[in-house]
Amino acid sequence: LIQLYAPLNILGMAYREIKQSLTDMEKMFSLLHQNAEVQDAPDAQILHSSAAAVAFQQVDFGYEANRQILHGVDFQIPAGHTLAVVGSSGAGKSTLSRLLFRFYDVNAGAIHINGQDIRQLTQASLRAHIGIVPQDTVLFNDSIYYNIAYGRPDASREEIIEAARSAHILDFIEKLPQGWDTTVGERGLKLSGGEKQRVAIARTILKNPPILIFDEATSALDSKTEKAIQAELAAISANRTTLIIAHRLSTVVDADEILVMEAGRVVERGNHRALLAQNGLYARMWALQQSEIEQTGDPALA
Ligand code: ADP
Ligand code: MG
Repeated sequence: LIQLYAPLNILGMAYREIKQSLTDMEKMFSLLHQNAEVQDAPDAQILHSSAAAVAFQQVDFGYEANRQILHGVDFQIPAGHTLAVVGSSGAGKSTLSRLLFRFYDVNAGAIHINGQDIRQLTQASLRAHIGIVPQDTVLFNDSIYYNIAYGRPDASREEIIEAARSAHILDFIEKLPQGWDTTVGERGLKLSGGEKQRVAIARTILKNPPILIFDEATSALDSKTEKAIQAELAAISANRTTLIIAHRLSTVVDADEILVMEAGRVVERGNHRALLAQNGLYARMWALQQSEIEQTGDPALA
């Protein structure tokens, strides 16, 4: 097994930390299947669908038995709609994406896709339906071409180049001395946080799954690139079921529904207008970010 880890450059990382980083998950899970705490049910079904409705039903969850993180989280994302989740750090936002990807099973309640409990689906088919741009992307020690193509290994070179263009990473790649063959990752060229995010976005564009999760997907980008990429993300999420976890509220204004989380609970919900009218936590967060914009003049916050 150790030899299998090496190409992924995860040697020495604890299993839990790897899961935490939400990276290279399909491959990792196929390697670690025996050790995974999540197993396919003996009669697991294959999810076949190009449209996917997601529902969290009264979900309780804790990573450890004695510390509950999520409390009765309940929401629905109709197929093709966008749900945004905001809230302070530690509120449980990324945990939602880990549960939907079934890194862990819920302790109570259920998660459904098209009315089917995800515990009754094969992990492979579930994960094939979901594309995640995580908070922190870890790259394979391999060419940048491989790292993007990984989103859909049977994609053509043209499709891979188009995905890189949409993710605003094509110019960067073409200017590298070894271009697409440049080795990246721990033992190759180290990319910045923003470059890694753009690689993850290109992978996800290429994968083109029915369910998209953007977990603070543009947080490491400069404001100009963020604006440009947000337009691309909006275009790819147009007819897809999308979960956006956002720090900057400017990115959630157009979501069909916004959940405000605090300490593992949904404390407010509604669209942007309705939440401002409620004059609660969301309205305070909005006012705070608006005053930051005035102070810094950062157009990405506008
Ligand atoms: P957010 O994305 O809103 O910042 P997370 O969902 O990442 O928050 O984390 C919610 C809570 O769960 C935090 O208190 C965090 O410390 C805890 N947590 C996250 N991952 C683990 C883990 N693997 N083991 C134990 N606790 C965890
Ligand atoms: Mg998070």
